[in-house]
Amino acid sequence: MPNHNQLTIHQAHRLLETRQLSSVELTQAIIERIHQLEPKVHALVTVTEELALSQAQHADKLIATGNISPLTGIPMLIKDNMCTKGIRTTCASKMLENFVPPYDATVVEKLNGCGAVVIGKANMDEFAMGSSTENSALFTTHNPWDLSRVPGGSSGGSATAVAAGEAICALGSDTGGSIRQPAGFCNVTGLKPTYGRVSRYGLVAFASSLDQIGPLTQDVTDCALVLNAIAGYDPRDSTSVPQPIPDYTRCLNADLNGLRLGIPREYFVQGMQAEVAAAIKASISKLEELGATVDWEVFLPSTPYALAVYYIIAPSEASANLARYDGVKYGFSYQDADTMWEAMEKTRQYGFGAEVKRRIMLGTYALSAGYYDAYYLKAQKVRTLIRQEFDQAFERFDALITPTSPTVPFKIGEKVDDPLQMYLSDVCTLPINIAGLPAISIPAGFADGLPIGMQIIGKPFAEETILRIAYAYEQATEWHKRKPQI
Ligand code: GLN
Repeated sequence: MPNHNQLTIHQAHRLLETRQLSSVELTQAIIERIHQLEPKVHALVTVTEELALSQAQHADKLIATGNISPLTGIPMLIKDNMCTKGIRTTCASKMLENFVPPYDATVVEKLNGCGAVVIGKANMDEFAMGSSTENSALFTTHNPWDLSRVPGGSSGGSATAVAAGEAICALGSDTGGSIRQPAGFCNVTGLKPTYGRVSRYGLVAFASSLDQIGPLTQDVTDCALVLNAIAGYDPRDSTSVPQPIPDYTRCLNADLNGLRLGIPREYFVQGMQAEVAAAIKASISKLEELGATVDWEVFLPSTPYALAVYYIIAPSEASANLARYDGVKYGFSYQDADTMWEAMEKTRQYGFGAEVKRRIMLGTYALSAGYYDAYYLKAQKVRTLIRQEFDQAFERFDALITPTSPTVPFKIGEKVDDPLQMYLSDVCTLPINIAGLPAISIPAGFADGLPIGMQIIGKPFAEETILRIAYAYEQATEWHKRKPQI
């Protein structure tokens, strides 16, 4: 049996159900691991030790009365951009460093309803803007596979914690790759659901037409279990979709017979690390062996424009969403100003970090009179083209397979001074948010001891199909079983 802190949800559930383990014992094992590893990896902004132990006691009482669901008593970590009632929610920003929300995000409410245990809040890039967690205004998270490297971002704290055994699973958010890219960099499983599948109520907004919450887990079964718990319509989020929620574990089946997979050529971009391309190609051959039919020559010609489209639309929406941080309503407030304007200006000057300000400026510019048509409107039109190309491809294929990112984890500091290089880290994941599709990243190989992720992209609301493919691959390979020696 693995150490308690390395149990999957389904393994822990079995032990809890048969009373071989209590939630309090499991939670204590996780807390111990956090104390041991946090000085090295810095994945958590807040550890909710007392709350977790009291929730674990409550879970044990539920279990004693036979009231157990798959997440009951399971210690989970929440990315620090999801509101947790009474628990600081910083977005890794000075602006919200002392913000304690008066309410829970819907996803948190749902987890509490299952009797899950909240172990803490995970570090991230400030307001989820970044690909390395280096944009956190609090501290940088280190990749557990190589502490001199980044864990990816923006959900770098969530991915690190799951890989290192500081949480059984975690929630992240994904606007352009922020669940999948760090999952790939840390050798865990990360799913971005279809836009509208999971409520965004209580998720601090970055780019509202792209943001989506999803699970980071140790395997595909766990991913399905967490999605079961958080998916569904929410009247408090008008973009959530009233579609029935299947039991996502029912589609997990090791047989891929009859499934048609397409490999879009544009995703094997120039500058991609050769080992990454080789590992993904080998993985696709594995899927072929498992019964899928593969077309290696699929073309999605608008793909090269996705990065530009994203960096117009996401900053535009961010510039509007972040206008609320004015020092008056909530969050950081500069106190020594003579005028109202000076107070607002200084609040934003000191409250936001460099990347957030860069995005606000980009977005404000793209939306301003005279430039709106040339940038924002044009980007929206190309967005439609990208979506249409996916729709056409999905007439012929059940799923598309690509690498999750073009490289393995890079060194801390390597790209901080070059935003364009940093933005390129998400070329393979951004188009999926632009089109609102579901996609999962799963462990698919290593290069020099560093993890490589494979991305499986599905039709809208076809999470079952991508989970099935991911599961079949996982059952036939051992990558996901490797844990960092730390
Ligand atoms: N890295 C991308 C960005 O910086 C995506 C971030 C995300 O998905 N939240 O915007």
